[in-house]
Amino acid sequence: MIEIDKVSKHYGSFQVLTDCSTSIRKGEVVVVCGPSGSGKSTLIKCVNALEPFQAGSIRVNGTEVGDPRTNLPKLRSHVGMVFQHFELFPHLSITENLTIAQTKVLGRSKDEATDKGLKLLERVGLKAHAHKYPGQLSGGQQQRVAIARALSMDPIVMLFDEPTSALDPEMVGEVLDVMVELAKEGMTMMCVTHEMGFARKVADRVIFMDAGRIVEDDEKQAFFDSPRSERAQSFLAKIL
Ligand code: ATP
Ligand code: MG
Repeated sequence: MIEIDKVSKHYGSFQVLTDCSTSIRKGEVVVVCGPSGSGKSTLIKCVNALEPFQAGSIRVNGTEVGDPRTNLPKLRSHVGMVFQHFELFPHLSITENLTIAQTKVLGRSKDEATDKGLKLLERVGLKAHAHKYPGQLSGGQQQRVAIARALSMDPIVMLFDEPTSALDPEMVGEVLDVMVELAKEGMTMMCVTHEMGFARKVADRVIFMDAGRIVEDDEKQAFFDSPRSERAQSFLAKIL
């Protein structure tokens, strides 16, 4: 589903990503972790071409992301992305947030889009809030709307970049619950997160990055039981 092959990226003389390779199969849940500045966000943004890269290739469902001929809006419409900050449209109601891309990008009718949006809102437990505006919801609720909004496009894969790290602790669980449900339903997911409880529960694999490199890419059990690099060992010791 996602094939990342020897991807390197630099900003001027600063190497952000070096020779990163991994692949994510359909239905797989992969957690990406590692110290601050190790390149996790950059790597995940390369997957839907929010960041360019200078070497290597990334294919999403066979489409080469770095090929200038690739239709990026079309590619991105298949790749759901949820960021640390919810990034809902503040001037639009929750329903409008959930329908605008469906109508504008996918050409769905307003009725069809609303119907789908409300079903997804129900799924994340927020149907009663459809008429509200983002500013009237808590951070956890906004993040659940952001997930529903991404799902409204029927993505083939979901990318998450620390979706819970900006939330008050009591709201983390409600967002993780939605992600766990998604994972169990078979969604292909690449999640940058330090929520190791989530990783233990639903991840198939864990990728550990350090200084722009993928230094571990292991089955979950192997990663937690015996991380190979010293860097991953000390990282785990700190966060577990
Ligand atoms: P965090 O855990 O703090 O989110 P991260 O692993 O997601 O970190 P990135 O945001 O991918 O790390 O950043 C990787 C490195 O690239 C950092 O050293 C960062 O300072 C650098 N970097 C990111 N964006 C730019 C930019 N536009 N110009 C120059 N350097 C950048
Ligand atoms: Mg980051």
